[in-house]
Amino acid sequence: MRGEYIAGVDIGGTKIIVSVADATGIRARVYQHTQLSGDNLTIPKQVYYLIQKTAEYAGIHYEDIQSVGISTCSPFEKKGIYKEIVAPNLCGGLTGSTRLPNSWHSIPLEEFFCQLYPDVIVENDCVAAVVAEKLFGAGKLYDNLVYVTWSTGIGAGAYVDGKLIRGKNGNAPHFGHIYIAEDGPQCGCGNYGDLEAIASGTAIARDYGVPSAKEVFDSYRAGDTRAKEIIHRAARNFARGLASLNALFDTEYIVLGGSVMNDSDILLPLVKEEFYISFPVLSRDVIIAKSILFEYIADISALALVMPVSWIETWRTYTPWEKAPDLIKL
Ligand SMILES: [Zn+2]
Repeated sequence: MRGEYIAGVDIGGTKIIVSVADATGIRARVYQHTQLSGDNLTIPKQVYYLIQKTAEYAGIHYEDIQSVGISTCSPFEKKGIYKEIVAPNLCGGLTGSTRLPNSWHSIPLEEFFCQLYPDVIVENDCVAAVVAEKLFGAGKLYDNLVYVTWSTGIGAGAYVDGKLIRGKNGNAPHFGHIYIAEDGPQCGCGNYGDLEAIASGTAIARDYGVPSAKEVFDSYRAGDTRAKEIIHRAARNFARGLASLNALFDTEYIVLGGSVMNDSDILLPLVKEEFYISFPVLSRDVIIAKSILFEYIADISALALVMPVSWIETWRTYTPWEKAPDLIKL
């Protein structure tokens, strides 16, 4: 049952954003820092509170919301019929490190919300993003579509033959954790030499010895040779990862998003050059492009998961995500 109002929730390691929308557009957007202490219902309860507050700002009663789409960092693990979040950046009990102020092993988010709302969809943030790309981005015309985020981490979501790929726990394709090298630096997931450990924004910054990838790109633009080497190597490995994904999915269109793609003027030519060298019969017809929803993707992904079919044409025509109200900090 999808009604007059829907809520979209984006859960990240540092903040949670909630939007409330109707058929004509987004009515209110609210965010708060992710609460990481307390018991493992802290985040579900925080999200529920934020939905109520966002409804208030939207000028509606929170019980008028019937559908909730949740886009979250992952992975997931199924417990019975429900997916639980088992993400190392939220659940301190998974890694045993003291970096997080909790000892959670999982977060039963889906079960919590299915008891409150008749229509709830929880997906990994990249899976939600590919749904948004398919509905509102350049992927509208393609049944074989991959969205890849190149950010502090690396992730992907994919349609194959028009079908959204999820896998047994909703973790497909966990693109950042495919192996690229036999030896290599360690990823946050524990793997050595996987794509995220070698080519993510975090890896680029680590290799150059600075806190963020942005500084490496600044040095690149200033003509620094070492920054250039590091970025070229990351782009090469990232492109090889894309070629591996394409070898598996035989895709038509690869959409790229994520903070590292802010420097797409440098990266896209490098990625394309390496990608199209790979097995040409497989690679030559694949389109690679930066997302046209780029700066709006987080806002629209969670909403796209539960958007009533009857709204889609209007949203495509008027692109209301570009006129969304300012984020309110709580
Ligand atoms: Zn990994």
